[in-house]
Amino acid sequence: MATEHDPDPLVEIENVSKLFDLSQGVVDRVLGREPQPVRAVQNVDLTINEGDIMGIAGESGCGKTTLGKLLVKLYEPTDGTITFDGRDVTELSREDEKMFRQRVQMIFQDPFESLNPRMTVFQSVVEPLQINDIGDGYRDRRERVTRVLNDVGLSPAEAYLNEFPKELSGGERQRVAIARALVVNPDFVVCDEPVSMLDVSIRAGVLNLMKELQDEYGLTYLFISHDLSLIRYMCDRTAIMYLGDVIEQGPTTDVVTKPKHPYTQALFDAVPEISPDAERHRANVTGEVPNPRNPPSGCRFHPRCSKIIPPEDWTGSQDAFRRAFNFKRSVATGELDVEDVETDHVEQRVAVDRLLETGLALELPEEHRLEGEGKGSVDVRTLDMPRRAENALRSAARDLLEGDVQAAEEQLDREFQTICEQQHPDLRRADEQITACHLYESSASNTETITPDASD
Ligand code: SF4
Repeated sequence: MATEHDPDPLVEIENVSKLFDLSQGVVDRVLGREPQPVRAVQNVDLTINEGDIMGIAGESGCGKTTLGKLLVKLYEPTDGTITFDGRDVTELSREDEKMFRQRVQMIFQDPFESLNPRMTVFQSVVEPLQINDIGDGYRDRRERVTRVLNDVGLSPAEAYLNEFPKELSGGERQRVAIARALVVNPDFVVCDEPVSMLDVSIRAGVLNLMKELQDEYGLTYLFISHDLSLIRYMCDRTAIMYLGDVIEQGPTTDVVTKPKHPYTQALFDAVPEISPDAERHRANVTGEVPNPRNPPSGCRFHPRCSKIIPPEDWTGSQDAFRRAFNFKRSVATGELDVEDVETDHVEQRVAVDRLLETGLALELPEEHRLEGEGKGSVDVRTLDMPRRAENALRSAARDLLEGDVQAAEEQLDREFQTICEQQHPDLRRADEQITACHLYESSASNTETITPDASD
């Protein structure tokens, strides 16, 4: 049994990756492109202690649902090891596999998907008992079903036994789904966005119920959610995912109130009501989540990061470097199109200024803009930037105006290099958290390379 000082790990995830080989589209096949696997989960290390509620948060497509499905064996990992109660789940004997299927359950976002519309509540909830060969005949199983329905607040249970899902409200359906998961008396339940499809007014009731059931049934939970207020309310520990990586993890209070990774800061910055009393800083993240088929090199967050690190010999401001790097990326990705900038019938000097004004502006997503703020533009002369860098930008802009994109790219690449683009950051300790960001690779005493352990 876990104690405060000696927690027992129930689930240990070591260096787990999951690749999906997506088949090519017609255009890919015609152009002879190789299929590109998507790395949905990348080298994830995580430990979930017995009795804990672990939260996994991140934007849609970050890999959190894939991770949940790996933990219940709906997917097999491509690399790495998942251990449940000390046993590698990919190497279970038939008997242990049966036991695993009973001890580990999943609650899905949409109760309509997890409940068969042609089965009554009784049939849905008794089915896991039949599959797992639990219970001593019909009477015993009916008693177990009745008990769990009462436990999940569907009381009196007899009134629900013969109902079909379509006759229930959304909240009642999700309670049936919870009952179906709990009737086999599991130890570990993965909850994938369990209340996101419910009316806001009944979410708190279902969440409180799940907390009560945790004590009553002795459960360990993994909560997957994009809803940061839910994570904050429910979870002891939280891991934040971005493009398949866990980029920060630690006690929820610390992750919420003192986020270390710039992406975590951006996530919480976009949800001001999460910490109304906390000192807010504008995370200033740019752009959209990149395509996971073709993730950025180095730190996967670098194209959007407000804290991207200039090289050691950079003498200008970080903001100026970030804008120059943004210009470099927009040229490399083709996002900056000379055709879109009004450069006809003006002197080259003016055309260069206009191109730089557009390319150096930062496009903030709506949730990070100040009131009334648009994309804006910026005059390169106002930036705190070394003369050499400004000259490189002007020269690259001239190349672009002359149609020599390759020369522009090479020049910008030589001039604006960053460790964030070149090296994937290792996990480091930063106060109570563990985070993957080059900012925490200094020799400061509170940072060190680390392998995550939920007891930390
Ligand atoms: S490694 Fe660089 S780009 Fe990535 S989060 Fe840290 S500062 Fe930002």
